[in-house]
Amino acid sequence: MKKTAEKCSFCGKRKEDTLILISGQDAFICESCVEQALNIIEEELGERKHTGQFTSHPDFKTPAEIKSYLDQYVIGQEEAKKVLSVAVYNHYKRLNQIGKDDVEIEKSNILMVGDTGTGKTLLARTIARFLNVPFAIVDATVFTEAGYVGEDVESILTRLLQACDYNVAAAEKGIVYIDEIDKIARKGDNPSITRDVSGEGVQQGLLKLLEGTDVLVPPQGGRKHPEQKMVRVNTTHILFICGGAFEDIDKIIARRNKANVIGFKGDKEREKIERGNIIQYVTPQDIKSFGLIPELVGRVPIVTYLEPLDAVALKRILTEPKNALIKQYKKLFELEHVVLDFEPEALDFIVEKAVEYKLGARGLRSICEAIMTDVMFNLPSQKEIKQFTVTLELAEEKITKSKLRQLKVA
Ligand code: ADP
Repeated sequence: MKKTAEKCSFCGKRKEDTLILISGQDAFICESCVEQALNIIEEELGERKHTGQFTSHPDFKTPAEIKSYLDQYVIGQEEAKKVLSVAVYNHYKRLNQIGKDDVEIEKSNILMVGDTGTGKTLLARTIARFLNVPFAIVDATVFTEAGYVGEDVESILTRLLQACDYNVAAAEKGIVYIDEIDKIARKGDNPSITRDVSGEGVQQGLLKLLEGTDVLVPPQGGRKHPEQKMVRVNTTHILFICGGAFEDIDKIIARRNKANVIGFKGDKEREKIERGNIIQYVTPQDIKSFGLIPELVGRVPIVTYLEPLDAVALKRILTEPKNALIKQYKKLFELEHVVLDFEPEALDFIVEKAVEYKLGARGLRSICEAIMTDVMFNLPSQKEIKQFTVTLELAEEKITKSKLRQLKVA
């Protein structure tokens, strides 16, 4: 390449206008383009780069430390946070203990029962982040028995390997969250289950994985690449956290309780007790009655529950966690040098709508977006505006116009 052509191949800046011009094969790049490229890489691959630092020996944290970290991100759910913190603590204590003693502490996989959008995935994800171990989320409904259309249960481990750039040692100490475990319940014991019979086959498939075994994992996943070289992963030290809404399990719990107190005069009253209050009494026995096979229930010995979120909890979720939605919007505006405020009445309105639309915590985001989109569209072109308040009036107007109204549950 001639000297005259020495300019940045990305932004076109001439050599004399740059601090450093790096040459490659038939191309140059200046220092500011390198910086920009680095930012893009960090943004895009932030999570993946992070996984490069996974250790195969997670730091040892006390249950109280784990819980106080969870408190920063997850609102309420005190019982679940406590149970999880202890279970995770024991799990990693067990790992450090292996081989040193003749008492083998059993693995304590966890099952969380709670409505959708109450924080089950958030809890599992936050714990994994705190411990800096690889983490994968899988949906139990995509699995089928070997030989049927769908994914084999081994693909759970493919996801975990992918989450840590195929660092097998790190993956073997990771955490897997299996969502919608209730959807693979056996048909029959519970009338609300509509899934086909292969649910039980999937449960059988999960048994060995949950207990601990060597599994040959297709690194690319699926059955589409029969030629791929399998990777051997041992699941003995992988912590499995399962979650599900277990719709109508309240009725099973209520029935069991009633059976224990024959003749209790408030039977009618009891039937009225809301699901929210009753799922705190969930036991492995109820999970069995729901349709998970006893062997599977035995391999997830720690059972806990998540409370439904009421207006007070939703308001806290909106404003309090470290990455609360309102904090995120304020930060976005701050980057444009605009101070953003919300009238307290506007916040109450957002919460009221989330309750009304029965969208739980997930709904908060859609409602906020419906209110904020126009503002976020217009503000960057109105440089003179340095302060903006979201009023109740604005919130009401945007929601009235938005498509969200169609979501309203009768
Ligand atoms: P699920 O119980 O269905 O797994 P998620 O954990 O995915 O629910 O929650 C959905 C979203 O709602 C999360 O991203 C989070 O922002 C919010 N959320 C739900 N529950 C809570 C909670 N208890 N505290 C804080 N945020 C929550």
